[in-house]
Amino acid sequence: MRQLLLLASVALAPVALVAQAKPIRVLVYHDMEGLAGQDDPFTYRFDHPQQYARGQQMLVADLSAVIAGLFDGGATEVNVIDAHGSGNPEPDVPVGSLDPRVKQIFRDKPFRGYVDLVEPDRYDAVAAVAMHSKTGSRGFAAHTITIGMALELNGKEITETELVGYSWGRVNVPLIFVSGDDRLRDDLNTLPWIEFVTTKKATSSSTVELYPVDRVHAEMRAAAKRAVQNIAKAQALKTPSPVTAALRVVPPASLEALKGFPGVKYADNKVTFEASDFGAAYDGWQAIITVARTGYSSVMNEMVAAQPNGQALRLDFSDRLFARWMDYESGRWSPPAPTSQTAGRRYHGSN
Ligand SMILES: [Zn+2]
Repeated sequence: MRQLLLLASVALAPVALVAQAKPIRVLVYHDMEGLAGQDDPFTYRFDHPQQYARGQQMLVADLSAVIAGLFDGGATEVNVIDAHGSGNPEPDVPVGSLDPRVKQIFRDKPFRGYVDLVEPDRYDAVAAVAMHSKTGSRGFAAHTITIGMALELNGKEITETELVGYSWGRVNVPLIFVSGDDRLRDDLNTLPWIEFVTTKKATSSSTVELYPVDRVHAEMRAAAKRAVQNIAKAQALKTPSPVTAALRVVPPASLEALKGFPGVKYADNKVTFEASDFGAAYDGWQAIITVARTGYSSVMNEMVAAQPNGQALRLDFSDRLFARWMDYESGRWSPPAPTSQTAGRRYHGSN
């Protein structure tokens, strides 16, 4: 009997090996405002190089903890994609700074970071590291896509993390791990299967109470491991098509220019629209965000007015505006041809 059992276990061994070898491929998105140990709002901005370099170190540390946990849990492949948009022409994660098994995603054409799926059939789960809460949640650097924008999907305002989730939900891939501040944790409390690690406690959009970084990294590693082990319990985020979408904005963004525009559903700095599906809604948000960003110029106008030569600057602007108009009308000036953006460049996400 004993021998028979032994024989049986030998015979079963290859089956067990095959089962263990089932690939689990995880794509990790990262932002840069929800980092452990981060309390300086300049650390996520490329235009403040010294602080940004510190932010990059913190980003690599957070990602490394999560990546280690994903592999601990049985992931067979982990890739990383930039979803931040710091202004850096290179990825925020310096090439070669992660576990050598990890590939950073590059493409040869620009792409919509959150929405254009990288190899839709490749991944079994997605994770999102160093994320931030949505506009109005009072988290550290709370925003959605950019300053002052609130994206509403079928009546509910969503975070960038949910943009990742809904994007991948279209191909039934679940979001399994997220890290960010306590306000983002509250934003995501309707998604209980997500392994969430709280990196810090927000006290305003520019201040936090930090948690011990080593402890947070240990939690990240353990939570990422659990996330892979429990992958079967995770749900893909689904949204019915067509979609009712809206963009609500707060200062310094503004949508008041659209008030009263025929065919535009506008109320209280919010525009509501119907879209055929999630991808079309995303394109709609982006288009209205471009309009809403014109509100930012109010800050520039204040700055100019506060300058000792503010009046002269305003006059100069006005004269240049008239000159541009007259030069165009006279055929002396035409807009520069769009440059071929793709030639010789590689694209890493939100760049
Ligand atoms: Zn973001």
